[in-house]
Parts: sequence; C-alpha cells; structure tokens
Amino acid sequence: MQHFDLAIIGSGSGNSIIDERFDDWSVALVERDPVFGGTCLNRGCIPTKMYVHPADLASEFEDAGRLGLTLARGRADWPQMRDRIFGRLDAISRGGLDWRRRSRNVTVFDGEASFVDEHTLRVGDKQFTADKIVIATGSRPRTLDVPGIEEVAHRIHTSDTIMRIDELPERLVILGGGYIAAEFAHIFTSFGVEVTVIHRSDVVLREMDEDIRSAFGEQLAKRVRLRVNQQVAAFEEGPAGDVSVITTDVNGVEYEYLTDLVLVAVGRERNSDMLALDAAGIGVRANGQIHVDAQQRTNLPHVFALGDVSSDHLLKHVANHEMRTVQHNLLHPDAPVSSDHRYVPCAVFSKPQVAAVGATEQQLREWGRPYVKATQRYADIAFGWAMEDEGHFAKLLADPHSWHLLGAHIIGPQASTLIQPLIQAMTFGLTVPEMARGQYWIHPAMPELVENALLGLLDAPRPAELERD
Ligand SMILES: Cc1cc2nc3c(=O)[nH]c(=O)nc-3n(C[C@H](O)[C@H](O)[C@H](O)COP(=O)(O)OP(=O)(O)OC[C@H]3O[C@@H](n4cnc5c(N)ncnc54)[C@H](O)[C@@H]3O)c2cc1C
Repeated sequence: MQHFDLAIIGSGSGNSIIDERFDDWSVALVERDPVFGGTCLNRGCIPTKMYVHPADLASEFEDAGRLGLTLARGRADWPQMRDRIFGRLDAISRGGLDWRRRSRNVTVFDGEASFVDEHTLRVGDKQFTADKIVIATGSRPRTLDVPGIEEVAHRIHTSDTIMRIDELPERLVILGGGYIAAEFAHIFTSFGVEVTVIHRSDVVLREMDEDIRSAFGEQLAKRVRLRVNQQVAAFEEGPAGDVSVITTDVNGVEYEYLTDLVLVAVGRERNSDMLALDAAGIGVRANGQIHVDAQQRTNLPHVFALGDVSSDHLLKHVANHEMRTVQHNLLHPDAPVSSDHRYVPCAVFSKPQVAAVGATEQQLREWGRPYVKATQRYADIAFGWAMEDEGHFAKLLADPHSWHLLGAHIIGPQASTLIQPLIQAMTFGLTVPEMARGQYWIHPAMPELVENALLGLLDAPRPAELERD
C-alpha cells in the first residue's frame, strides 16, 4: 500500500499548507470536486465579491438624487459578467490543479476520502496510509426537505450554482436571513431583479448587534420585499411554468410567492459526514463539527482539522489562520502554537455593508459585564456630509475600567475597511484614549467615523455603579 508523510483532505485552505518547506515530505492531496481550490475561490467569498462590486456601482443611482445628481439605473450584462468572473477564477483553479499535479512530492487523488482506520484513507478503490492527516473538508449549503421541491428542482439554486446561471431571472425568491442571503439580495436587486427575501425568524443577520441588525433589516426592506416569520411549507409548479413558493407564518396563515428562481440560503452543513470518522475514532459533535483543541488537533494526535469543518467561525480568514497553525505544528511538533480566536471579525458585503468584531451589546448585557457605548453617525462626520449619508453608524462598546474595546460594529459604506483599526486595537490591546488621541486621523477621511466614535466612548455615560466609585 502506498504510504505518505502527510495526507490532506480538501483542496481549499488545506492546499495552502503545502509550501516549499514541505518539499521533502511526500504528500497526498485529496479533492472530490472536479473544481480545485475550495469554496472561497470557486463558489464563495471571491466570486460573490466580484458580483458585489458591480452591484455597488449599479445601485449608486439610488443615492445620487440626494447629491443633486441624476444617474439612471444601469443594465447588467449578466453573461458578460459571469464569463469575466469565472473566466478568471476557473483559470486560477485549473492552474492550481495543474501545478499540484506537476509537483514532484505531491500526489493528487480525485475522489471522496474516507477513513479506513487511524492511518488509512480510502479514495474510490484506492487505499493509502499517512503518518499525519489533515481534514480540511469545509462545508456545503444546507438543503431543504420540503414537499414539491423535486418537481421544481431545475429552478432551485444554492450559492454553489446561482452565480453560474445563464441569464438573470425577472423574479428571485431568496430563502434565508444570514449573510449569504443578504449579499445575494444586494447583487440581484441591484441588477434589476425583483427580489423577495423570506426568513423564518423575526430578524435578519441575527448574530449581529441588536442596533445594527434592526437598522440593516429596515434598510434591506426598502430595497427588496422582505418577509420575516415565515416558513416554507411547499413548492409547486406555477401557472407560467414558474415556481410557487408556499409559506406559512406563526399563526398558520398561508402565503404564496410566484417566482422564476429560488435561492436556498438557509445555512451550511459541515462536510464531516462522508469521512467515516468512526472508523478512526475521531470525535465529532452532533452538528458535524469535528472536535479540535487549540493546536487544531483532533482527539488523535496525528490528525488535525481546520476551517469550516471544525471551526466555530465559517469564515475564510479563520480557515487561513487555522491553516497556518496546522502548518506550523506539522513542521515544528516540539514547539506547537495555538490558534487565536479572541477577536474574529466578520463582514457582510451587502447594501449597506456591515462589519463587526467582539461582543454585541446584547451579549454584554447577558454576561452582566459593565460597558460604556458610543454611537457615531456617518451623517455627523465631514465625509458623511459629502455623502449626505442617511442611516449609517458605528457603535463601539468598551470596558469602563481598562478602556479596552469590547466590541465594534459598523453599518454603512466601507464598513469592512473601517473596522480594521478597531480589530488591530483589540488584538494588540490598545486602549480607547491611546487610539483616539495617540495618532493622527486624516481629515476629512472616513476613518474620522472611528475617531469620533472612540472620543464618544470617553464622554459616554458610565454605568451607575462606577459613577459612585
Ligand atoms: C457564498 C459564500 C460567500 C462567502 N463569503 C465569504 C466572505 O466574504 N468572507 C469570508 O471570510 N468567508 C466567506 N465565505 C466562507 C468561506 O468561503 C469559507 O469559510 C472557506 O472557504 C472555508 O474554507 P475551508 O478550507 O474550510 O473549506 P473549503 O474551501 O470548502 O474546502 C473544502 C474542500 O474539501 C473538499 N471535500 C469535502 N469533503 C471531501 C472528502 N470527503 N474528500 C475529498 N474532498 C472533500 C470540498 O470539495 C472542498 O473543495 C463564503 C462562503 C460562501 C458559500
């Protein structure tokens, strides 16, 4: 039986482990998808943002009137855009696979890997052993088990397929209220599609700070038809060969939505179920999350896991961080490092954008942790005047004793960029006064939003028990 020093399952973040420091290692790399390179490159972060950018441009006309500008709604040439985006990404994916196939020390296996025992993997009819194994199998869109779905299957999409459709539909129903639903709602409504977002909970972007998510919900509802507290009950063929989506609300009242296509964006499932983890005795939670310690080791010391399949955070920057932990620990087993999950930021590239790091206000309340808060509107900084901004803000939460930031939340233009100095401050332990007054802030640039929010914290009313000190 063929033997390797290292076997990696999954060509997303797992593939990045293999750099020149592994030139002396024999490596097996297994990928079951004909498209090489994982979710981020092929059907996740990157193609979505390549659609978000033109969507941002196409929707500029919505805000132009306030500035005395008349901009017409543009027309999206979807096939051109799709071919441009995937012409570039597919070439990168093919190039990555070719390069790996040509590497002297890496053997690429096409197919689905599963464990035979602690050191043996099966891929199709092949079996091989490895000293060390890395599971980096990611996650996939959760599917819906709803009556009638088979009959209209050709009109039902997930994030895996919607970006490659032939033409823009006239109408799109998006099921879900997380960040993937929010980003696609922005993309398609900006390109002139009539979008309906149906969400079973009462609030979209549920994980976000309460003020941010309610502002986001209000603003999304101005751009698309937003229906909350409704659960999909069935799909039927519509009168014009389209789809009828039947939903019910909390009172059992039934609704019907006719649409050309449906995007199911109701969450992700971790890809651990096909791995036969039992055969090796690898621990996994009921939700499919492989159990790892801070050094990314499973309960077997020679088996590591990283990224969506094992992480609490299904985000590419987290998968990359964990990949570097695994990489180091493979190369330096006597001086292992741990992953740092203290301040994991996230962003939603919708309109408006949302970005966050650290605790939400509702979490701090729940934990009984004292805090001060400040909210800074874009409309009250000079650049916000230039934009005639409406409705966007930064909200900061800080510890009133140490003046360390506890949470930072931004909704509005460039939120994903504006949040970065706050992530830096939290990670490196800068206090609010140090950060606010220890550096220049370019005037009149957008980061003045952050500067003023920090200054606002220093002036914010302090919790009652501190005032008495
Ligand atoms: C629409 C969308 C937008 C996103 N946008 C963002 C964003 O803006 N920012 C962000 O940080 N994150 C974003 N993400 C999340 C991000 O893409 C993932 O967190 C990240 O790609 C996970 O990387 P990974 O290496 O864990 O898994 P993946 O990149 O998914 O790699 C896993 C690979 O393993 C393969 N595989 C699975 N099981 C097996 C098996 N048994 N045998 C062999 N191969 C197997 C899969 O085919 C896949 O290629 C987005 C995701 C989606 C779906």
